[in-house]
Amino acid sequence: MKFRNFKMVDYVVYGRDCFNQLDGIIAPRRGNDAPVIFILDHFFKDNDKLKSRIPLRGNDMLIDADVTHEPRTSYIDELTQQIKDKHGNVSGVVGIGGGSAMDIAKAVAIMMTNPGKAQDYQGWDLVINPAVYKVGIPTLSGTGAEVSRTTVLTGPTRKLGMNSDFTPFDQIVLDPELIKDVPANQRFYTGMDCFIHCIESLEGTYINEFSRSYGEKAQQLCEEVFLHKNEWDERSDEQLMMASYAGGMSIAYSQVGVAHAVSYGLGYLLGTRHGIGNCIVFNHLEEFYPKGVATFHKMVEKNKIDIPIGITKGLTDEQFDIMINVSLGMVPLWENALGKYWQTIMTRDKLRELYEKL
Ligand code: NAD
Ligand code: ZN
Repeated sequence: MKFRNFKMVDYVVYGRDCFNQLDGIIAPRRGNDAPVIFILDHFFKDNDKLKSRIPLRGNDMLIDADVTHEPRTSYIDELTQQIKDKHGNVSGVVGIGGGSAMDIAKAVAIMMTNPGKAQDYQGWDLVINPAVYKVGIPTLSGTGAEVSRTTVLTGPTRKLGMNSDFTPFDQIVLDPELIKDVPANQRFYTGMDCFIHCIESLEGTYINEFSRSYGEKAQQLCEEVFLHKNEWDERSDEQLMMASYAGGMSIAYSQVGVAHAVSYGLGYLLGTRHGIGNCIVFNHLEEFYPKGVATFHKMVEKNKIDIPIGITKGLTDEQFDIMINVSLGMVPLWENALGKYWQTIMTRDKLRELYEKL
């Protein structure tokens, strides 16, 4: 048996208001005149309080990242070109925002040093050169994008990450203060991404003690904040931020499963966002994850969240086929979820039935 040798994030700073240390953290990475590029989730476009705390120096550049849609390869190419045209070399890229903004920062950092287009690197271990220095700062917690070795992008032909050893951040800044004002719905959808990572990792065939120890902890933290507490408090932000980290660590050494495989099809065809898409699918997965789905239903009820239904109503056969093809293409996810002979269980007909339920 050959075990995978995982590249992880190099430095982690954690704590309330640790964002204030960013200037000092990146200072030694600044080279001559090469600027640092800050990629900020457009949610904060008019938030002068946060903006004034971003340590801009010299010819640094602040880009408001458009995350109206989850990141596309064409947008990565556009941003990279814009930065190259203006500056040539850069000292680093800092992504501040949800999973989308962090993924944009990772992908741009990679494309600053690699030839061609972002779509050329969608897949496993295709990146040729190390990226420029990159920092991730989450303002939403749940995706685990802060620790993962991928950046999920929608390209012309597929939705697939740039999975590589050059993808993880060099530094992450985990400051629970940054997630304190997230509206309850968004917090739930992104938080459930983490809960679903845990269930899919723990119930999967790839499970091992490394993944289990992180997955169990992350699941416990999700249940603590979304099920057992009656009020959201400061500690809840801290717990959810650590749940996201641990959930990401859990899937780093295992894999996600059915909800993610099916949700990728929705994302590709309908543009359904990752967090809510996973919730829409997981809502109907009793057959595969009975206990996890029962707990999920309790959390939905307790937090008074609306999970959309009927989103595939009226789609054509052709459209169902597109989703089915995208989904069945996620081979490692299905194999983790259902074992080596997954194709005998998840047939095209069965998957179509599942999509029709959503
Ligand atoms: P998101 O980044 O797509 O953001 C969702 C919305 O929340 C956006 O409108 C954003 O502007 C807004 N937002 C950001 N910070 C906020 C704040 N503090 N308060 C209120 N609103 C805020 O959402 P997400 O769930 O964090 O991330 C989903 C994305 O992450 C998808 O693109 C998905 O593909 C990707 N993802 C990546 C990985 C990975 O390992 N790289 C893993 C899972 C998901
Ligand atoms: Zn996910």
